[in-house]
Amino acid sequence: MNLTIGIDVGGTKIFAGVVDSGGRMVEKLKRSTPAASPEQTARVIGDAILELLGRHKAGAVGIGAAGFVDSAGSTIVFAPNLAWREEPLKKQVEEHVGLPVMVENDANAAAWAETNLGAARGYQHVVFIGVGTGIGAGIVINGQLYRGRWGMAGEPGHYRVVPEGRLCGCGNRGCWEQYASGNALVAEAREFARRSPGAAVRLLQLGRGAADGISGPEVTEAAREGDAAALRCFEIVGRWLGQGLAALAAMLDPDCFVIGGGVSDAGDLLIGPAQAGFADALTGGRYRPQAEIRLAELGADAGLIGAADLARRSFDLRPWPGWADPWRLRAPPRRRVRHRAKVRRRDA
Ligand SMILES: [Zn+2]
Repeated sequence: MNLTIGIDVGGTKIFAGVVDSGGRMVEKLKRSTPAASPEQTARVIGDAILELLGRHKAGAVGIGAAGFVDSAGSTIVFAPNLAWREEPLKKQVEEHVGLPVMVENDANAAAWAETNLGAARGYQHVVFIGVGTGIGAGIVINGQLYRGRWGMAGEPGHYRVVPEGRLCGCGNRGCWEQYASGNALVAEAREFARRSPGAAVRLLQLGRGAADGISGPEVTEAAREGDAAALRCFEIVGRWLGQGLAALAAMLDPDCFVIGGGVSDAGDLLIGPAQAGFADALTGGRYRPQAEIRLAELGADAGLIGAADLARRSFDLRPWPGWADPWRLRAPPRRRVRHRAKVRRRDA
């Protein structure tokens, strides 16, 4: 059966799931994130793992976390939405549960899952863009996750697209995620409702009469009903998204982009304008093959499933001989031997 446990740690919720070697979720738990306390967060993760281990025999744990993870897959260097600063999460959770643990950026884990088990199966050069509150991304090159020198590659959400533009949570101005994310969609809708309330009747109605009451899912709801103001918001944000994809294509030349994250629930409302913006902005577009832009298939579970699959490969729980290990450049040999021995002991 070859089970591993995947964890998805976000700013408000922690999901823990048992995943089989085919990427199927066997069982999933949900907990609240005690975001202010790194120690309690590690404890909640550990307790959820122990609960799952009481019912399933799993061999390793992969944690996908919304933050910058070091290149050894052990420490969360910095998490914008959590209190983690230089947090040795791998060590804390390993001591708690007695299984080998690896930590990966959540969008990298989602990129891995979509490439191997989801929308980009069969592609070797994939860029995953998670459009949620902000933008998370993961890059797969030649079938391997690209992490960069310090494990921090794949953060195009903070690539500056507008000099001196909107202020970003990272402290800079004009970052891509301020124009092509769920926050951007809400900002466009609220601004439009304030400027032209007569043309934003439906949006204001969904926002209980106030521009500031309009939320992302409500913009999607209004757009699905065909509301012109909401469709215009998707047009603007989708175009920004597509233009950013064209810039990424100029740098990385992928064969497939996968668009996931909460805003991708809007489907063609987002993908349509993104494809148009991409085609317009792609350098030499008429004279070159163009990357596919696809909707993610694994939904909100992508990060959890990807983390579980990376853990399986990282700790050599290989489902067949010759299975490619995307982690092999990362773990020092001594440690891998130790983990393997630990896993064998559990199986014995
Ligand atoms: Zn930024």
